[in-house]
Amino acid sequence: MKILVPVKRVVDYNVKVRVKADNSGVDIANVKMSMNPFDEIAVEEAVRLKEAGVATEVIAVSCGVAQCQETLRTAMAIGADRGILVQTDEELQPLAVAKLLKTLVEKEGPQLVILGKQAIDDDANQTGQMLAALLNLPQATFASKVAIADGKATVTREIDGGLETLSMSLPAIVTTDLRLNEPRYATLPNIMKAKKKPLETVTPADLGVDVAPRLKTLKVEEPPKRSAGVKVADVAELVAKLKNEAKVI
Ligand code: AMP
Repeated sequence: MKILVPVKRVVDYNVKVRVKADNSGVDIANVKMSMNPFDEIAVEEAVRLKEAGVATEVIAVSCGVAQCQETLRTAMAIGADRGILVQTDEELQPLAVAKLLKTLVEKEGPQLVILGKQAIDDDANQTGQMLAALLNLPQATFASKVAIADGKATVTREIDGGLETLSMSLPAIVTTDLRLNEPRYATLPNIMKAKKKPLETVTPADLGVDVAPRLKTLKVEEPPKRSAGVKVADVAELVAKLKNEAKVI
């Protein structure tokens, strides 16, 4: 059983992002880029399924600029067997990525696609759902536990106020939540080994997909600055301020 894991190259989660002066987007020049954290969890889960003898091959896919190769090498250092880069300099929106992934799913025939629940740059939370719709496959989003047995996936999902457990036939689409697992650190020998693993490069045109953006960003702005707080001497003053200034009681 093959598992396909889409991994996105995003601004590292430790970086404090800055809006471009012309409000057209976020400045990513000279900024540290890393694998989307939810995708690291997806790779870890796929590798664990391989180590448990459930999966035979883990294929990482990244869509974007040439530097996404680094993201694929990271996935291979965690344990993915090979990588596919769909290379383009175009801005890729979730629908375009889902269409690209659809063609790769049709070509590779994985029984499971594990994506992150969302990319921390666009926070879209769309690609997995769109991929499931395009392929007409069952989906379980926000997975906190995945078990594969008898041609079925049993997935526990984090929902408002509790957990929901779904059983789905394979092939299926799963998206990861934070508590699914704790990804391992790639060891130096595995980073070295990853350099020798196969990495295929294709273009959206090779896959016959039109990736032109369908949505237009009008403006990107910083959130308003929070004004400084004040210290009150006692409860009476607090109540007075809430009543007379904030007018909330
Ligand atoms: P999003 O819908 O943009 O929040 O992304 C959800 C998930 O889709 C990510 O966690 C990745 O697993 C996958 N994904 C989105 N964009 C890409 C991309 N350019 N390349 C590979 N995977 C992607």
